Amino acid sequence: MLIVMKTDATQEMVDEVCTCIKKMGLKPHAMPGAQRTAIGVTGNKERVDSDMIMSQLGVREIIHVTKPFKLVSREFFPVDSIIDVDGVKIGGKEFVVMAGPCSVESREQCMVIAETIKKHGGKIFRGGAFKPRTSPYAFQGLKEEGLKILAEVRDKFGLKIITEAVDTETIDLVAKYTDMIQIGARNMQNYSLLRKAGRTKKPVLLKRGMSATLDEFLMAAEYIMAEDNKNVVLCERGVRTFADHTRNTLDLSAIPFVKRTSHLPIISDPSHGTGKRDKVIPLSRASIAVGADGLIIEVHHDPSKALSDGPQAITPDMFAELMRQMKTLAPVVDKECE
Ligand code: PEP
Ligand code: MN
Repeated sequence: MLIVMKTDATQEMVDEVCTCIKKMGLKPHAMPGAQRTAIGVTGNKERVDSDMIMSQLGVREIIHVTKPFKLVSREFFPVDSIIDVDGVKIGGKEFVVMAGPCSVESREQCMVIAETIKKHGGKIFRGGAFKPRTSPYAFQGLKEEGLKILAEVRDKFGLKIITEAVDTETIDLVAKYTDMIQIGARNMQNYSLLRKAGRTKKPVLLKRGMSATLDEFLMAAEYIMAEDNKNVVLCERGVRTFADHTRNTLDLSAIPFVKRTSHLPIISDPSHGTGKRDKVIPLSRASIAVGADGLIIEVHHDPSKALSDGPQAITPDMFAELMRQMKTLAPVVDKECE
């Protein structure tokens, strides 16, 4: 339920409505806007009796939200959210590129790749320190040593850092080092991890599960936001289909759907979305064209030796070309990419 206050409603009236909602055992979320304040209500299992609220001073109207997700929905919060990752703003004018290796393999590897990312205008450096691998025998990441390398990259190049948290045991350690926490496709419905990610209050990049519907995807984001963490960015990274010419099928239509249904930013991951190096630049062009707020790209200086996801890692030269194209295309879709 969404309560829309009158334009001349005072702060006391807003506070009074919030108190009334709390007395009903529900949770108010006051959202001051340019014209008027709206108050979202969560916690109700059934339709709330609105007479009591309607009788409060300053209330203009009550809108019953039809979608199962509330805090993520545009019905609740009509203005685009801009998520601030320590100064890098995602969801506004800027088209933000995050890039780096799939896994943090060594200090030297990260430094070489980070130099390329920085030089060509990437803003956030990615790299997995804890890796969720399909096989328990595959490289599982450098763990805390990897997090320390990422922190060094931030200090040396001024790039922000994103890395994945794979479980509730290690998420606090990850949060200590990183600027943005990635929740991977395999964990999209790990509700205790989502809740814990919410409680860190850090910006979270939530990747779509490989067979998740968009409602399930948005409900997963709702878990993070329900912990009073508004800093959520969504990521389309491809879903499983019958197609076998690519690793996954990058579902580009998810991007305009999410932008219409939710106020949250959404970026695209054409690396996991295709699994093929030569498809990354074309699908990046497509992603910016359909309205993505940014990209997350796997880059490796020597992809044939990468410890994970080598076939989809683009080379530094390809990254330079990708950024050149994004800078050219951004103004066409009213974005900026420097
Ligand atoms: C990754 O970003 O390296 C990764 C494991 O991604 P996903 O969760 O989308 O598979
Ligand atoms: Mn990867």
